[in-house]
Formats: sequence, C-alpha cells, structure tokens
Amino acid sequence: MRVRFAPSPTGHLHVGNARTALFNWLLARGSGGTFILRIEDTDRERSTSASEQAILEDLEWLGLEWDEGPGVGGDRGPYRQSERLDIYRAQADRLLAEGRAYYCFCPEAQLKAEREAALAAGEAPKYSGRCRSLSPSEVAARRSRGEPAAVRFRVPEGGDVAFLDGVRGLVSFPRATIGDFVLLRSDGNPAYNFAVVVDDALMEVTQVVRGEDHISNTPRQVLLYEALGYRAPRFAHVALVMGPDHTPLSKRHGATSVAEFRARGYLPEALLNYLALIGWSPGGDQEVLPIDELARRFRLEDVGRSAGVFDEEKLAWVNRHYMRLAGASRLARLAAPFLRAEGIVVTEPDAGGWAYLESVVVMASDSVDRLADIPGRLRFLFSYDAARALARPEVQAIVNEDGAREVVRCLAHELAASERLTSREAFRAAADRVKRETGRKGKALFHPIRVALTGEAGGPELDHAVPAIDLGAQLPAGSGLSPVVGCRERVQLFLEALDRA
Ligand code: GLU
Repeated sequence: MRVRFAPSPTGHLHVGNARTALFNWLLARGSGGTFILRIEDTDRERSTSASEQAILEDLEWLGLEWDEGPGVGGDRGPYRQSERLDIYRAQADRLLAEGRAYYCFCPEAQLKAEREAALAAGEAPKYSGRCRSLSPSEVAARRSRGEPAAVRFRVPEGGDVAFLDGVRGLVSFPRATIGDFVLLRSDGNPAYNFAVVVDDALMEVTQVVRGEDHISNTPRQVLLYEALGYRAPRFAHVALVMGPDHTPLSKRHGATSVAEFRARGYLPEALLNYLALIGWSPGGDQEVLPIDELARRFRLEDVGRSAGVFDEEKLAWVNRHYMRLAGASRLARLAAPFLRAEGIVVTEPDAGGWAYLESVVVMASDSVDRLADIPGRLRFLFSYDAARALARPEVQAIVNEDGAREVVRCLAHELAASERLTSREAFRAAADRVKRETGRKGKALFHPIRVALTGEAGGPELDHAVPAIDLGAQLPAGSGLSPVVGCRERVQLFLEALDRA
C-alpha cells in the first residue's frame, strides 16, 4: 500500500489535517506500506517556506515520520509540486495532443463576471465552453501572438462519473454538472486537480485518504485518470473534525493547530492517540493505546461517516494518562521549556538541577492536565513572598484562627534548631514536635504550617511540598534553576511579616 499526505503550506497544520496524516500513516504502518509526504505549493501567492517548515516540524514532533518526501528523498520525487512544473507541462501537452484538453484564452475578468452572474441567478458556475471548439489555426495564431492561455480539460459528455469510496460507499456525479476545468493556468502553474492526479499516479499512490471537503474534486480526478490512462487509486473521504457546535473546527472554537496544542503542553503521543479517536474507535474497551497498537487495529472500513467533535476535555484526559506514563526524566525535559518561560529554569540545568526538576515535576503533574499548567503548580517553590502571601484573604483567614500564630512561632523555633526537612520523615517529625508543643492537630496544625511554608492556602501535599522546598534550598548556585528559599528562612520571614501586619 502506498499512501500520502499532501499538505498545502499556506498556514499552520490544522488538527483535522493532522488526523488525515495520522490515518494515512496508520494505514502504512499497519500494512508495511509506504507513507509519502508531498508539499502542494503550487499556489505561489499563499504558499510560504515558513509554513512548509512549520508543517514538517509539527509532523516530526507528532512522530509521523515519512518514508518518501522532503528531506528524505525517494525514487518518485521531487516531492514538492513547485519542483514538478515540467512534469505537469508534459502531461498537459499529451492531453492537448490527444484532443483531451484545449487552450483557453478567456480573460480572468470575463470568467469572474460569468461566475458571479451564475451565482446571482442561483446556478452552479460552470465554464461556458467558449474556447472548446476554436480552430487549430486560430489557436496557433493567438498562441504565436503570445496571448495568455490556460489549458482546460475537455470533460467527456454524457453519463455519470462514479467511484467507490472507502468510507462513504458509492459516490456518483452527473458529468453534465462538471464544466471543462483548468489544468494549467496561463502562468504555467497547475491547478490542484491536475497536479494531484499527475502526482498520485506517478508516485504510484494506491490509496488516497483525505478530508470530505475534497469529495467534489474526486469526480474530476477520476476523469483525469481515465484521460491520462492511469489506474485510479482507491479513495476514502473522512468526515471533517467539528467544533462543539458541529461546524468545522475553526479559530472561533479556540485552538485549531497542532502548534497551539503543543504550546498548551499536550504530549505528542496524547494528541495522536486522541486524534485517532475522532471518528474511529480501536474496538474493545480501551481507547488509550500505544501508537503501534493503533496501527495494528486501524481499518478504513471502521471510520465512521459522521463528523467527529473535537473535545478538549477528552484530549486533556488522554494527556493526563500519557503524562503519568512519561516517566520523570522525559516529563522534566518536556516541561523544561514551560518552566523556562516562567523563569523557573534560568539556564541549562546541571545534573543536580535535572534531578531536582524530575522530582518536583512528577509531584506537580499529578494534578494538572497539561505541561503548561506545571509551572503554576511549582511557583510556590521558586517565589516566596511572605507579605504578598499575607495579603491574600484565604491566608489571612487561616492566620487569624485561634492558635495559628502560635503554631507558626513554634515552627520557626523548631526549624531554627533542626536540619533541613529533606524527607517526609523529617517533616513529620518536625510537625509532631509542633503538635506536642502547641496541642494543635489536624487542620489547626497543618493549615498554618502550609501558609507559612508555601505562602499558599492550597497546593501539593505537605509531605511532598516541604521536602521539595528544602531539597531546592540545598541546590548550589549554578544548578540552572531559580533559587529556592528554605523552610527555616520562610517561616522566619513569615513571622516577621505577621508581626508587621
Ligand atoms: N493540498 C490538498 C489539501 O491540503 C491535498 C488534498 C488531497 O489530499 O488530495 O487539502
């Protein structure tokens, strides 16, 4: 099986297109086939190399590596349409010579006016056929005068054009609805339908999987395969990815591009797994499965005909699962750019810095959906400000409770005399001593301890948070992380601020 993904580099990689790429990739990987990447950049005005670069990076980030295509090569290249103009020209000349295509001299302004008139009359626009039967001598004369000319396909008359779609079954269109369409524009650039057929044929693509928005193009493409004498691939048109309101997922719904989801801190394997679930189900009761297993199970016949809704809640659920699976070391490395953006990671961490990050990132990831939420959960470690903490109403409420100040004072006294609390046991022992001294227990004990040491009324369990603070305080300068103020110093600062308040 030879499949392809053929993005136009005119913007970001939309998650709907990423899902198309994924379906193709799953088919190739599940069948020992070949996954081709082709860049459809014949729209010279809208295509940019920056967009191409970004799309390639997004595919790489997702792990959808291609077997043939830009950067990889292959026997049937080039894989960028802008580098294949001679090929399209030669194929168009063949159709011209056989009378299956003809030169069209109609000026763009005239065509546009005709299109608009048809639309205004409530009709589907269709080329009039004005240049269909120009005499060869007239064509030759106008060509030799250098008059701009497009090449149009002569749509054979009568009957229907039909194809069997892998998702939608038999699809059929009356030929009469298809006007003679452009193959090559007057500037020599191919039109989409022509380039895609020439490329799919010469690249020996056996199965085309693409979005349903292309289904009305397919009859034109089927006619072109017939005219060019190539065997058409099998086609499958998958329903588009929708927003919650059942209109195609767009900016109005929020994030739409792979890059945006990446920036929000979703793991590539989570996004891939989730995208596979839109409009398809791996069967059984498990939805979260390793990519190889998805490839093993994926079958086009099981892709639903109805549109799937993109549900970020569910993506977040899948992401939590993969964050738990990721392991401390990978999680820390994935979180590092987000921590850097928040000033928590300052320079490349040294071994001690990484070890510390690994321990705290795991603590934070238990309670977040995405990597981007991790810095917020760790902020208490790297920025401690007693006065600002005390300005918070929820902290105020805690310190104003009966006996709370006594707990803080006693804790300050305890910590001044003890080793740093670098383990849960050390913390528990210190808390026990404060409990014995003050006679406070439960919330009356732990709430004041929490606000004094973390500056916040909520957060990770103290059993984890307190050792994290004091382990951080022991990191030497040069670990690459923003400095952490230790518990001993924190409670002292808190007490001073409390006395001032
Ligand atoms: N370049 C087209 C697109 O981005 C590809 C369509 C196709 O797969 O044939 O939609």
